Amino acid sequence: MRYIEPHGHMVSRVTDDYIDMVTAGCACVCEPAFWAGYDRSSVNGFYDYFCQLTDYEPKRAAKFGLPHFCWLCINPKESEDVKLAEEVVALIPKFLDRPNVLGIGEIGLNKNSRNEMKVLEMHVDLAARHNQMILVHTPHLEDKLKGTRLIIEVIKRDKRIQPERVIIDHVEEHTIKLVLDAGFWAGMTLYPESKCSPARAIDMLENYGSERLWLNSACDWGVSIPLNVPYTALEMKRRGWNAEDIDKVVYQNPLKFLSQCKKFKLPKA
Ligand SMILES: [Zn+2]
Repeated sequence: MRYIEPHGHMVSRVTDDYIDMVTAGCACVCEPAFWAGYDRSSVNGFYDYFCQLTDYEPKRAAKFGLPHFCWLCINPKESEDVKLAEEVVALIPKFLDRPNVLGIGEIGLNKNSRNEMKVLEMHVDLAARHNQMILVHTPHLEDKLKGTRLIIEVIKRDKRIQPERVIIDHVEEHTIKLVLDAGFWAGMTLYPESKCSPARAIDMLENYGSERLWLNSACDWGVSIPLNVPYTALEMKRRGWNAEDIDKVVYQNPLKFLSQCKKFKLPKA
């Protein structure tokens, strides 16, 4: 089996996870900027984090033969402080030329608040000005449907953004169609507790087809399973999917989306 982990918060994982992922056939991991498990107290905390994502973590992944890419932003969970967000957004362009940076993400909404909306708009503008791809986080805590609608509105309003260069992640049964119909890519996050189980993800693939969709584990500092993409591939096999169709979902689709960024290259197998 080969697969891509397009959304894993590896800074919070141990080296055993890297070994397991590579053993299971992982071809690369992509790490969106996210909450650290605690609120950073100043823009300097983000400077250090961006250095970690663009320098230290790719080197750690390389020790296990795994290419590492990342996305940069201030995440929605820390977006209540608009002043801090402005400072972080001003810092990001310094890092955009680094070789493993794919774009702006994971931006979006957490509680659908006014300040989160402001910061989302700032990030969409940043992506447009620098011609960057976008990875979007949709809310778990508050109303996901409302949050997804608001996010789509903000992105669609900015005519500089091409929807096919945007992925809206953590979709569920009630938001997947909205995202795909608007021309975006959709991500399904396989979580043991919230978000979406492997069985539900496969049901959605069977109902909506597998165009413009990817699977990820979003493994982070919370209860999560770094191997949930290959586990879901096994479940697809048990449910009668053929090898080519599984490969499309877990490898070819993320490859197609991510390859829109010129910096995304995998070493020849
Ligand atoms: Zn995430």
